[in-house]
Amino acid sequence: MREHREDLVVETPSGLYCPPGDFYIDPWRPVDRAVITHAHADHARAGHRHYLASARSVGVLRARLGDIEVQGVGWGERVVHRGVAVSLHPAGHVLGSAQVRIEHAGRVWVVSGDYRVEADPTCDAFEPVRCDCFVTESTFGLPIYRWQPQQAVFAQIDAWWRANAEAGRPSLLMGYSFGKAQRLLAGVEASIGPIVVHGAVEPINRAYREAGIALPPTHSVAQVQDKAALRRALVIAPPSVQGSAWSRRFPEASDAFASGWMRLRGARRRRGVDRGFVLSDHADWPGLLEAIAATGAQRVIVTHGYEAVMVRWLQQQGLEAGAFRTEYGDEQFGAEGGAVEPQGDAAARPVGAAGTGPQAEEE
Ligand SMILES: [Zn+2]
Ligand SMILES: [Zn+2]
Repeated sequence: MREHREDLVVETPSGLYCPPGDFYIDPWRPVDRAVITHAHADHARAGHRHYLASARSVGVLRARLGDIEVQGVGWGERVVHRGVAVSLHPAGHVLGSAQVRIEHAGRVWVVSGDYRVEADPTCDAFEPVRCDCFVTESTFGLPIYRWQPQQAVFAQIDAWWRANAEAGRPSLLMGYSFGKAQRLLAGVEASIGPIVVHGAVEPINRAYREAGIALPPTHSVAQVQDKAALRRALVIAPPSVQGSAWSRRFPEASDAFASGWMRLRGARRRRGVDRGFVLSDHADWPGLLEAIAATGAQRVIVTHGYEAVMVRWLQQQGLEAGAFRTEYGDEQFGAEGGAVEPQGDAAARPVGAAGTGPQAEEE
């Protein structure tokens, strides 16, 4: 990408870097000062000396990274470092997820992190922030990605769960343990039956509840004494349980996966699940365009996702557009079952769908 001498954010081998402020945003190698947009594993890594993040995200960050040195700031609160004013603004992606606004010498840049424009009860709603240059994600940056309103998706999930419960089959619903799992919990009709969650999900639930987010009661498998009740249960677990000994505790379960990637029939087939619910924590194509337009930015830099498609489209609209190469998302793909569970929808990117070569299949 063509760089300007006065750029407020540049790409470096350690991550996105603000030269005048001497700090990084979501760096992938250990650094002194890291501003963290959100606690998904590819954005919030261990090993930095000092973290700055939204106060809303501190509980989840600590649940995932342990006892880090983190300064939590309120929404819109200005922190000045070396003459650079930094503030965080809600990104609507997961609890505490932030866009980073950087102001220096009369110029304003915003780094989006991951974002979603449709509001939901588990995190603060996306806030458009005016800027000269907007650094946007593009996880679902293709015109085929258009989400239904989430209420419609939750109605489908409830109907599936209810039918399974009436047939005496557990409903195993897989989704990432941070963000998606809590959104599922907050969105389903909890009166249909008991809700069982995997051990990777409950510590994150705790952080959400401590942040004041209302979630229905959840149980571990061991807590459900009445085994007949398990046959009516909704079981929420990370994708890594598929085919594992853990999931065999729910014999004859109907299984499903909740992800934006379920928009692709091929992705669902490769997953080998009974049902795919198209529910994403990222903006769809219209959402990305709406968010970009709302910033008023004349320059846009695209990160992880479909950079080439998005850059070309933005240039056709007369904007100056380029891309940053980052280490978000992709490298997590295929790591399922390892020590670090892949987090975020980007982790589930179907092989071959990276960058410029979308192999989308319409439903
Ligand atoms: Zn991301
Ligand atoms: Zn994320």
